Amino acid sequence: MHPVANHIIQLQELTLIRDEQRIAERGEHLEQLNASIKTMTGQLSKNVRMTFEKLQKRDPIAIAPVSGSNCSVCGMALPISLQQSIRMGKEIHSCPNCARMLYAPEDAPKRVGERTRRTGPRKVGISRFSSHTLMIPCLEGEDKESCISELAFRMEEEGFVEGADMLVEEALRREAIVSTAFVNGLAFPHVRGVEGGGLTLAVGVSKKGVKFEKDAKPSHIIFFIVIPTAASAFYLKLLSGLSKAFSKKKNCEAMLAETVPEKMWKILARVTRTTIK
Ligand SMILES: [Zn+2]
Repeated sequence: MHPVANHIIQLQELTLIRDEQRIAERGEHLEQLNASIKTMTGQLSKNVRMTFEKLQKRDPIAIAPVSGSNCSVCGMALPISLQQSIRMGKEIHSCPNCARMLYAPEDAPKRVGERTRRTGPRKVGISRFSSHTLMIPCLEGEDKESCISELAFRMEEEGFVEGADMLVEEALRREAIVSTAFVNGLAFPHVRGVEGGGLTLAVGVSKKGVKFEKDAKPSHIIFFIVIPTAASAFYLKLLSGLSKAFSKKKNCEAMLAETVPEKMWKILARVTRTTIK
């Protein structure tokens, strides 16, 4: 991969984490994130920096992986000569359709399967990416790793994703950068940039609470989210919608009191009706 592409991917990851932290209102990490973003932006050449900043004004994803022979965000089929040039990695190329910078991923793509393509009537709100089968009212895990595992394996059992092991590993890698816990007892562990399937959300409640970071208050409602690259911008809206719905104490209490998955699902659908379109 072109070294600058690698640099931009890491920079973009930091800007996405900063957006999450803003939604989480976790000011204590913002200063450090802003400083790192500033340093990394300053290391780019003027042209690349201007392109990156211009693209990010429109959408958080300024650089995207090629998926098969297509741009993973807009889906444009790329000419073979362009695909080859991107693989060669001698310079950074842009998608002819959406103008995002493109790169050929070196690692095996984080495939999560195709089974999330659901049929039936068009769904609205939260039911587009979750289901009552993905609600766990009483998480058994006593730490973040086991809770994330329970949620990831539930997604796999229910046929929403494949490779739950890899998802747990990736989610923990993300937690290690900056915790996804909010101050009000919510946590949003997630895996970004997966291939195949759609955005998927599983929710678990820990009555006792689990600590997502040392010296922090325990998290009680854990939203585990798997995010394809194309849904990165929508994910931030989802995060903000969930955060808004559960900033109301009575909504959190209703979820915490529930023991039946179907009822938990009904509460989730009700409280997010106006915050998640
Ligand atoms: Zn594109």
